[in-house]
Amino acid sequence: MVSPETKKTFKAGEVIMSQGDQGESAYIIEDGTVEIIIEKSDGSEQSVGTRGPGTMIGEMAIVDNAPRTATVKAVRDCTLLEITKEDFSRRLEAADPVLRMTTQVILTRYRDMLTRADISNINNNWPPAETLELVYADETDAVETIKMANEFKTSLEKNEINLHYQPIVNFQSGKISGFEALMRWEHPVMGFVSPDIFIPVIEDSGLIVEASKWALREACNSLKRIESQTGHDRELHMSVNFSSTDFSSENFVETVYNIISESDVSPNQIHLEITERLLMQQPDNARETLLMCQKAGLGISIDDFGTGYSSLSYLHYFPIDTLKIDRSFIMNMHKDEGSMELVKSIIALGKNLKMAIVAEGVEEKEEAKLLRELGCDLAQGYFYAKPMAEKDLIQTMRDWETVEF
Ligand code: C2E
Ligand code: CA
Ligand code: CA
Repeated sequence: MVSPETKKTFKAGEVIMSQGDQGESAYIIEDGTVEIIIEKSDGSEQSVGTRGPGTMIGEMAIVDNAPRTATVKAVRDCTLLEITKEDFSRRLEAADPVLRMTTQVILTRYRDMLTRADISNINNNWPPAETLELVYADETDAVETIKMANEFKTSLEKNEINLHYQPIVNFQSGKISGFEALMRWEHPVMGFVSPDIFIPVIEDSGLIVEASKWALREACNSLKRIESQTGHDRELHMSVNFSSTDFSSENFVETVYNIISESDVSPNQIHLEITERLLMQQPDNARETLLMCQKAGLGISIDDFGTGYSSLSYLHYFPIDTLKIDRSFIMNMHKDEGSMELVKSIIALGKNLKMAIVAEGVEEKEEAKLLRELGCDLAQGYFYAKPMAEKDLIQTMRDWETVEF
């Protein structure tokens, strides 16, 4: 039982805890009703529900050291039983060993879940307005995620996963210099599933490692066929996307190298596309892996460049050949001075560091023209061509006339 001196009372309308405060205790509502309110980054308030007798509030304080994620007000006069952090720890220490272990496992998972909820909000201002809702949603999402990962595994075995290839065009010559391989999943029941949905799911489940190996093998074989059917022997490159899970998998470089060797394309025709975020997550490991890739002759491209929160000084630290300017900056170049300046700076940076620059998501002729004038090397986007299946790509290559501006 909780000792009587830990009882607290609050009058209707009184604030019990405030968002952003450092919490020391959780409370069990003995009597009364409370309302949970979240203050959003724009200053507005959102009620996320009420709680009554027998429920617990502010429990995160005894789980984590993070500030309170919501404000709680008494709707009617309340009596609450306080459980301090120390009280909770003491009770846990004294508990039956099985109960203790189970609680600790659940708490660790709960903390992980909270951390993930925070990470997914990293671009919004702290405090994350929807944290509470996200945590509850996470439990149902977890089931959906496991289901989707299982479906993906089956699809991979049944050849329901494909690659599409999007041309990357040289601004000076107007010719196709290579492609990016992009995964496509056409599920017999769910239909087309976007990579933006399934890639994070297979990353979380670890299935990405299998999928990336498959994609690399498929892309290499496809490149060989495209070259032989369009008469471009060893002139084109193929970019393949990799994730941080791939990077930390065992024998990553060796596996990549073996797959490339089996397909008889030159390693320098294959470019690994990785994000800035991956580099910053594990800089030392990434550097070591990338140096080995470079030694093996592979190209290294940084994807979605400009969206990470890193400083530019780190670029020297990694053996990078190509920077791909994120689509959001290209899209806003005309509307927004900041984006234009960023694009200019990245192009200048590329020149200084002797890296090639690819503009991603070029959709308009005017964008293409401007980028070319700014000295950008390569372009990728719907203005030139959408991602397409191998046979359509071969036809596109045959029909391709160098692009005029
Ligand atoms: P990403 O690597 O940045 O790939 C470029 C995305 O932009 C592709 O979306 C492409 O279809 C789209 N795109 C290209 N040009 C334009 C344009 O002009 N306008 C617009 N609006 N979009 C354009 P997609 O194929 O849906 O892929 C989304 C993301 O999923 C990729 O972004 C990548 O992060 C991931 N992904 C796709 N395939 C793979 C894969 O095989 N492995 C891994 N690890 N990730 C992949
Ligand atoms: Ca990419
Ligand atoms: Ca990209």
